[in-house]
Amino acid sequence: MNFESYVLENDLGTIEKNYTFKELTTIGCGGRIALLYTPNSISSLQKAFTYILEHELSYFLLGNGSNVLARDEDFKGIVIHLRKIHYSYEIKDEILDCSAFYPTSKLAYDLAKEEWGDLSFLGGIPGLLGGAIYNNSGAYKDEIKNHLIDVTYINSAGNLITINNKDCAFAYRKSIFHYIDGIIISARFKLKKMKTLEVLERRAMARKLAQPLESRNMGSIFKNNPLIPAWKVIDALGMRGFHFHDAAVSAKHANFIINTGSAKSSEILNLIELIQRRAELEFGVQLKYEITII
Ligand SMILES: Cc1cc2nc3c(=O)[nH]c(=O)nc-3n(C[C@H](O)[C@H](O)[C@H](O)COP(=O)(O)OP(=O)(O)OC[C@H]3O[C@@H](n4cnc5c(N)ncnc54)[C@H](O)[C@@H]3O)c2cc1C
Repeated sequence: MNFESYVLENDLGTIEKNYTFKELTTIGCGGRIALLYTPNSISSLQKAFTYILEHELSYFLLGNGSNVLARDEDFKGIVIHLRKIHYSYEIKDEILDCSAFYPTSKLAYDLAKEEWGDLSFLGGIPGLLGGAIYNNSGAYKDEIKNHLIDVTYINSAGNLITINNKDCAFAYRKSIFHYIDGIIISARFKLKKMKTLEVLERRAMARKLAQPLESRNMGSIFKNNPLIPAWKVIDALGMRGFHFHDAAVSAKHANFIINTGSAKSSEILNLIELIQRRAELEFGVQLKYEITII
């Protein structure tokens, strides 16, 4: 039995065959997806994930697609789409227990409205909480690692496992989930009563001024080198605003690449590689991706 029949016969969710990464990523480019699987529950996802791993099928986990650049070639495997899974949270004894499918920025605002702090650094970070945990997302000198108690994920045997903060091996835009087969399902965070709504609103205005939110983008392309922020390197190369067909270095923020129309992934990649080569040649600086490229 193939994956599609397995999903449909066991009522594990839906399978769609007419999607491309263009519709499912914020940068708006990338090839066709052979099978887009949307689970209808966590237990369905556990079964489907077990099937995929047991049969050694190629797969990719997609949240909101706000940090993903997919190549133009067709993706022949299965994309597990996490964006339509039901999400909620519960707070008990100042501990937040939250679905990994909760939209990250909405979570910051929803908590702030109830005067729960301080996950306000998550305001304005697009994507779902699972993607934020995967990357140890951060802003304003704060990051997931500073607040998370533990994470529950589906492991490679299809079981739900909970690991504590230390075992997540969090580092700058990294976690253990970069190295293992695992789907993050939920996480617990320590909260305290605080008023943060005003801070969130102020920062949202600042983001609008500093980031090209009016254009299709995928956030910062490169990690900041410990000695110099990536945008300063790109500026020093004179590449702010540089175009390659519809792929452009944002004039607003040099570490953002924008799709100004119908850019192909190959054009965006060419631009990324050009910046990397020039940074290495002219300044001896290695710029490493913050985004996921598939
Ligand atoms: C305008 C803009 C601003 C941004 N600002 C910031 C910022 O300030 N700070 C920051 O850190 N990031 C920022 N980002 C990057 C991005 O929002 C984060 O990395 C985000 O958390 C990705 O979540 P996602 O759901 O979109 O994940 P996707 O882009 O869909 O996936 C990203 C990676 O996470 C993996 N993944 C997703 N969900 C799961 C899961 N449940 N279990 C296991 N793996 C999973 C995917 O397989 C993939 O490798 C920004 C992006 C944009 C577009």
